[in-house]
Amino acid sequence: MRLACIAVLPIVVHSAVLALDREPLKKFRLQAIVLADDDGSRAAAAAGFQIQRWVDYANEAWRLARFRFEFDPRRIVTLRHTRLNRMMGEEDGDWPEVRGIGDRIAARFPGRIVVFFRHGPGEEPTGRGFSWTDYNFIVMPGFEHSRVCGRQNIALLAHELGHYFGLVHTFDREFRTVQEAMRHYEAAGHELRTGAGNRLSDTPSTPHIQELQCTADQFVELGGELYLIPRWNLMSYYYHADPKRDLRQLSPQQSAWARRVAHLRQKGGGPLPSNRTAGQAIAFESLEIERQSGVWTEVQTMSHRGPENWTRGRHLFCRAAPKGSLTLLFPVKEGGRYRMAVYGTLAPDYGRTRFSVEGRVVGELDGWAPLITPSGRVGLKTVRLQAGTHRFRIDVLGKNAESNGYHFGLDCLEVSKL
Ligand SMILES: [Zn+2]
Repeated sequence: MRLACIAVLPIVVHSAVLALDREPLKKFRLQAIVLADDDGSRAAAAAGFQIQRWVDYANEAWRLARFRFEFDPRRIVTLRHTRLNRMMGEEDGDWPEVRGIGDRIAARFPGRIVVFFRHGPGEEPTGRGFSWTDYNFIVMPGFEHSRVCGRQNIALLAHELGHYFGLVHTFDREFRTVQEAMRHYEAAGHELRTGAGNRLSDTPSTPHIQELQCTADQFVELGGELYLIPRWNLMSYYYHADPKRDLRQLSPQQSAWARRVAHLRQKGGGPLPSNRTAGQAIAFESLEIERQSGVWTEVQTMSHRGPENWTRGRHLFCRAAPKGSLTLLFPVKEGGRYRMAVYGTLAPDYGRTRFSVEGRVVGELDGWAPLITPSGRVGLKTVRLQAGTHRFRIDVLGKNAESNGYHFGLDCLEVSKL
């Protein structure tokens, strides 16, 4: 029997506290919007003092990550809007449109994190919340309707803030019972057994097992290995049986990623970078490849999360070996100075790349991220080009210590005359 998750020791958290102690506090104001239907019925049941309790818990949960959330109950906005009051996220047929409405309303509160409290689509109020990085708000249920382990779910807002700041769940697999999980893990090979979880090395990749959600168990044995149950982790679905011991927090790597996403959100004024803004840029998959060494290309459809965040919903995936390189040819109609930029993809197994035009280095990109996400616009140096065909070369420089590979993803290339 092996211990699968030895990385999670109190000492890790302790040293991270010391490291993050020097980081500046990230302060955010929350803007609560309490929804009802157009006729005022089915109002979400979230009062100021209840929202304040959710915020207080979030401040405890995010304290080590050096985040602080401020909330003023006197500034709660109430809004009659049936479509928003019904929203459940990606399962809604009209989600892209509803998300757009939510984003437009959120834009009226610049610099604040907008949290919608809604009733849900059914007669009975929903207990679920959700959020993600490609829109600009958090969605929550009524306070008493969010229940877990037979009690009110006080950690829900803190958890959804995690998604808002780009954190995925600690697990990538769910089972109803230990039996079911055991059968799966015994049948699977070692690699499949350990699983990827959230791809951060300091959180356990333990699957979620519903039967254990509210118990006091600390380990579960699956396929001959012991898995630590991350009840302490805000992005797991495990809770402690004893509500007094149920303070859930973030690991050092989760904290670091959330801070990076927070920075990107603040810089971009909202959602994580998107390649939607690429405009007239040339799709990499349409460019002719002149040379490739240690790089294998393939057009990939970004069908999982938010394909609209990539141009035409796809990119050129480049499987790469260390020191691989790829040279593409791009056309220039008339001579002059050109502003250039790359729109790419970030992912858990992407490396660091360097870009050059006709042998001159114009920029670099660290492609690592714990989730697959568009890079947004990566500005390159301005170049002088003559009319004709030119070489755009990508070299793999290495990889971030967290990354599992050297690959890279290219969406499109901006070449605009100055
Ligand atoms: Zn979640």
